[in-house]
Formats: sequence, C-alpha cells, structure tokens
Amino acid sequence: MRYSLGLIGHPVSHSLSPRLHKAALAYHALDGDYQLFDIAPADLENRFLEFIEQDFKGLNVTIPHKQAVLSLLHSLDDNARSIGAVNTIRFDDGILSGNNTDVFGFTQALKDIFARNELRGANAVVVGAGGAARACLLGMAELGLSKVFIYARHPEKANQLLESLQFAHQEPFLAMNISVLTSLDKEAIASCSLLVNATPLGQSDPSLPDWYCHLLSLLRANAFVYDLVYAIGKDTPTVLKARSLGLKASDGTAMLLYQAAQSFKIWTGLDVPLTCLMAALN
Ligand code: NAP
Repeated sequence: MRYSLGLIGHPVSHSLSPRLHKAALAYHALDGDYQLFDIAPADLENRFLEFIEQDFKGLNVTIPHKQAVLSLLHSLDDNARSIGAVNTIRFDDGILSGNNTDVFGFTQALKDIFARNELRGANAVVVGAGGAARACLLGMAELGLSKVFIYARHPEKANQLLESLQFAHQEPFLAMNISVLTSLDKEAIASCSLLVNATPLGQSDPSLPDWYCHLLSLLRANAFVYDLVYAIGKDTPTVLKARSLGLKASDGTAMLLYQAAQSFKIWTGLDVPLTCLMAALN
C-alpha cells in the first residue's frame, strides 16, 4: 500500500509537518509521501475529488479550512464533532472521516508538565478564540479544570465560540465553567494556575503587544504559561516573557509532536516514537 499524505491550508509553506510525517513513514519503512497543498477556499471541494481519485490515504488540515471541511466529510470523531473543527482526515475508498488530534496533543503535552490530577479543579485562561482555542477548551475539560476564562482581542468572537461549543451543553463538560473576559479582570486572572496562548502572537513578529504582557504580569507566581506557538532550537517570545516574570513556561513543540503521532496512527494504525519525530525537527 502507498501512503499518499499531505497538509491542506492557505498558506502552508511554513509547516513542519512534512518533516515529521516523512520521518514517521521512514521509521516504519512505508512507501509514501507527505506533501503541502496550498488551497484557496473556493477550490476546496474540487481538490477533494482529486485527492479521492489519486487514492490519498490521509490529510492534515490547517487554517483556514479546519471548519470548512466539515461539510465534505462522511463522519466525525467525538472531538471533531464537539469542537466543530477537523485537523486530520482519513480516506477509506472514498469514505472520508474527520478527527481532531489537537485535543490529544494538548492534553498529552500538559500531562507531561503537570502531575496527575494537578489541574483537576484548577482555573485557567485561554488567549484567543480560534480553532486551537476550541481544542484546548475540550482538553481542559478532559483534564478536569474547574473554570476557564477566554480572553480574545474581539470578545464577540469568544462569545460566538462559546455559543457554538456543543460540549458546553453536554456531560462531562458541564462540570467546567467557561466564560468570556471582556477586560483584564485582575482577580480572575490571578486565580488561574495555567495560561494558554492560542493565538499566533510571537510566531512571526517577536514583539508582544502591551495588553498581552500586562495579562501575563497579572498571573500568580506559581502559574504555568503554555504557548501553542513553537520555535525549534530557541524560546518563543511568550516563553521568554513569562520566564522574565518568574513564571514557568513551555512552547507548543510537544503538542505538535503528539498531534502528529496521533494523525499518523489514524492513517496507518502504527505508533511512532516521539524521539523519532523530535529528531526530525532538529
Ligand atoms: P485561528 O483559528 O486563526 O485563530 C487564531 C486566534 O488568534 C483568533 O482568536 C485570532 O483573533 C487570534 N489572533 C490572531 N492574531 C492575533 C493578534 N495579533 N493578537 C491577538 N489575537 C490574535 O488559528 P488557530 O488554529 O487557533 O492557531 C492559533 C495558534 O496556535 C497558531 O499560531 C498555530 O500555529 C498554533 N497551533 C499550534 C499547535 C501545536 O501543535 N503546537 C496546534 C494548533 C495551533 P481574531 O479572530 O480576532 O483574528
């Protein structure tokens, strides 16, 4: 069997996914390739017909298609259905199933940082209200957090996210209280054990806006900052800023590796060691 795999998005050229999945294919000596496909939204449907014709086995999905692909798929896993966003598609003889491995990537990365049950009952703040924020919120519910505040530069988008989250109305997620912060509420932020940056802040421009630095400065001394942005061989601006404030912090590399390993397993049924993926990044 040949594994024709790839990433669809717009743009995609910055992606590290080819390195990871080519290393995974090589690790298992599988015949296949992982290519980047920059697809404009208007071309999405036609390109899917081509992927099926060309016997593709799997695709990753990134901005801006994570929600748009939903209507092209035959089935969704629970995570993708709950948060309304897909980052992994498996092809089975023209039947397309959608998954969201960002949730697994996020929870596994946090499990490596925090002791078992340490986050249970804790509060957190998520910065951003896009697709990754959705995955983090579901991951936080799985980890048993008690209260999560969403802070977004456009609070109306955070409110839309909250309204659209099916899981906010279902067990076991009812146990987690999610609300939108419309201002930098000192008391709420100081109650948080964790801040997650789910925006691209610091990704292409190292300077961080004043409001964001102020938000970080309102965290209590033992809070942890998890930055979904990743940088290979150096610290991200968010991690540097958090550490300068005396906070513990990590970038999103581990989440990237875990979500990739999970996608690869969905396509091939095979596990790939994180060390193999990490080596491919260096
Ligand atoms: P997205 O759906 O486009 O959402 C981005 C969010 O960030 C939106 O809320 C957006 O607000 C906000 N934002 C964008 N630029 C901003 C700025 N300059 N200041 C403040 N807020 C800003 O993207 P996503 O898929 O959620 O991804 C977010 C980040 O997470 C990206 O950097 C992505 O690479 C990273 N990520 C990492 C992993 C990993 O494995 N480590 C996985 C997924 C995503 P508006 O709606 O107002 O534009």
